[in-house]
Amino acid sequence: MSNDTQLQHGERRRVLIVGGVAGGASCAARLRRLDESAEIVVFDRGPYVSFANCGLPYFVGNVISDERKLLVASPETFRERFNVAVYVDTEATAIDRAAQLLTVRDVRTGAARQERYDVLVLSPGAAPIRPPLPGVDLPGVFAVRSIPDTRRIRAWITERNAQTAVVIGGGFIGLEMVENLMQRKLRVTLLEKLPQVMPPLDPEMAVPVSRHLEARGVRLHLSDGLARIESEGGSGLVVVSESGLRLPADLVILALGVRPETALAKAAGLPIGPRGGIVVDAQMRTPDPRIWAMGDAVEVQDVLTGQEIVLPLAGPANRQGRIGAEGIAGRRSRFRGVQATAVVGILGMIVASTGASEKGLRRAGVSGFQKVYLHPGHHAGYYPGARPIHLKLLFSVPDGRILGAQAVGMEGVEKRIDVIATAIQFNGTVHDLAEAELCYAPQFGAAKDPVNLAGMLAENVLNGDMPVAEWQHIARTDALIVDVRESDEFAAGHIPASINLPLSQMRQRHGELPKDREIWLSCGVGQRAYYATRFLAQRGYRPRNLSGGYTTYTALRAAGIVP
Ligand code: FAD
Repeated sequence: MSNDTQLQHGERRRVLIVGGVAGGASCAARLRRLDESAEIVVFDRGPYVSFANCGLPYFVGNVISDERKLLVASPETFRERFNVAVYVDTEATAIDRAAQLLTVRDVRTGAARQERYDVLVLSPGAAPIRPPLPGVDLPGVFAVRSIPDTRRIRAWITERNAQTAVVIGGGFIGLEMVENLMQRKLRVTLLEKLPQVMPPLDPEMAVPVSRHLEARGVRLHLSDGLARIESEGGSGLVVVSESGLRLPADLVILALGVRPETALAKAAGLPIGPRGGIVVDAQMRTPDPRIWAMGDAVEVQDVLTGQEIVLPLAGPANRQGRIGAEGIAGRRSRFRGVQATAVVGILGMIVASTGASEKGLRRAGVSGFQKVYLHPGHHAGYYPGARPIHLKLLFSVPDGRILGAQAVGMEGVEKRIDVIATAIQFNGTVHDLAEAELCYAPQFGAAKDPVNLAGMLAENVLNGDMPVAEWQHIARTDALIVDVRESDEFAAGHIPASINLPLSQMRQRHGELPKDREIWLSCGVGQRAYYATRFLAQRGYRPRNLSGGYTTYTALRAAGIVP
C-alpha cells in the first residue's frame, strides 16, 4: 500500500467498487481474500451483480433456458461468503475526488446519498453503441448487454411470434445473436458496414465465415451500413440500409460494438486516453492514487504493437480485477497487457485469433514481418472425420518471433490458437511452434500438429527453404505462375495466367520452365507447391511458394485482395 492510501493504524479502510460484474466482482472477491479488515462495498445500477454476460446470447437462443444459471453469484453470496456489501439498482453518479466522496442514487426511488471512500474502484464496463439514427429507439430494436435486455428479447419473440430478425453488426456479439436467433427458428439477415464479418480478422480469413453463414441460410449484406429503422404496420419494422435496401424484420438487434463507460471518470477529471478508455498504469491505477479502474472501461497496452487499445473481453477484465485488488492490498502485481486472444462459435464454425492481425500490424506501422497460410486437417487424415483448419501465422523476420495467428474451421480451432497464444505470451518464436510437443492420437491431432506445421512452414520461409511470393503482387508480377496440381484439379479452377505442370510430372518436364525468371508455385493448399519449390530450387530455378495455394487464392479473391 502506498503512503497516500495508508490509513492510521486501527482504521477500517473503505473500498467502494462501481460495477459488480467481471472486473468489479473479481476485484471485490480477491481483495477480501487478501484483506479481511477492509470494508468493501459494491454498487451496480442493474438488478444483478456477477452475471454471465457471455451467456446472454445463449439465453436468447434458449440453449441456456434457466435464467438463474446466468447468475454466477448473488448479493447474498457476496455478503455471506466474502463479507462484501452489494447494492444493486444503485448508480454511481458523481465522484468528489477532493473530499473522497461517491454520490450514488437508488434507481428505483431516485434517492441519492454520498458514500465516503478511501479507495474507489471503477469497473463500469462498456455500453453498446446506439448510433443517432432514426428509429433506433423503436420498440423491437434491442441491444444485448444485461439480463433484462435478453428477457425483453425473449418476450418479444414469444409474444409476437417473431419470424424474422435483422442483426446489425457482424462482430462477436452480432454473430452469436445470429446463431441464437436461428436457434429460435427465426430467419436472420445480417447487415455489416465493413466488407467482412469479424473485424478482428484479416479480410481473407473472414471469407470462410461469410460463406458458412450464407450456406447456413443467413442473408448476409456486407459493405452496407444502417441508415434508419422504420416501423411498418402493427409491430413490424423495416431496416433501411445506406444503399437503400429495405429489410423487413419482426425484431432488430444492434450489435455495432461497445464504447467504454467513462462519463463518471471524465466528470471527475480522470484522464481518458485516445482510444476513449480510462487511463491506468500496469497496476490498474488511475493517476489519482486512490482510484483504480479496470475492464472494458480502461485502455490497455497491446503487447504486440505497443499501442494503447480498448479490448472488451471477459478474460482481461477478470485478470485486471484480480491485479487491481492485489495493488489495493499493497502487492505489486502488474498487468502484462493484452494480445486479444478471442474465439467465437457460429453455427458450428469456430473462429479464433490471438495477437496482431496483418492489417493491425500495418496500421501500427510495423514492417519486417512475414506470413504463412496453411489448411491442415484438425486431426490425422486417415482417421475419419478430419476437417480443415484455415490458419494464418504472422511472424517477424529474421528472428521468427510470433506476432499473431488466426484460424477458422469446424473443430480443434481454439486449441491451436490457445497454444499459439501461450507461445506469444512467452515471447515464443516459430521455432518453438515447430518444436512444440503436443498431445497426439489420431482422433485428436496429428504427429505433426497444425501448430507444428505452422512453425515448420515459417521456419522454411526464414531459412530460405521456401521463399514465399507476395499474393498481393500476383496481378503485376513478371514471374511465371505454375500450378502443380493434376490437370483435372487445374481445370476445375485456377489462378488467372497460371500454367499447369503437375508435381507428378515435374521431374520429367522441369526443363520446360525458365531459369531466368521467378517461378511462383501454387497447388491446393501449398504442400505440393512446397515440394516443387524444393525440387526446383535445388536445380537452379528461382521458385517461390504461393502460401496456402488455391484455397488461399479463392479467399483472397473473395476479399478483393487479388483479382
Ligand atoms: P461489465 O461486466 O459490463 O460490468 C459493468 C457493470 O457496471 C454493469 O453491470 C453496469 O450495470 C455497471 N455500471 C456501469 N456504470 C455504473 C454506474 N455508474 N454505477 C453503478 N453501476 C454501473 N467476452 C469474452 O471474452 N467472451 C465472450 O464470449 C463474451 N461474450 C459477450 C456477450 C455479450 C452479449 C456481452 C454483452 C459481452 C460479452 N463479452 C465476452 C464481453 C465481457 O462480458 C466483458 O468484456 C466483461 O464483462 C467486462 O467486464 P467489466 O467489469 O468491465 O464490465
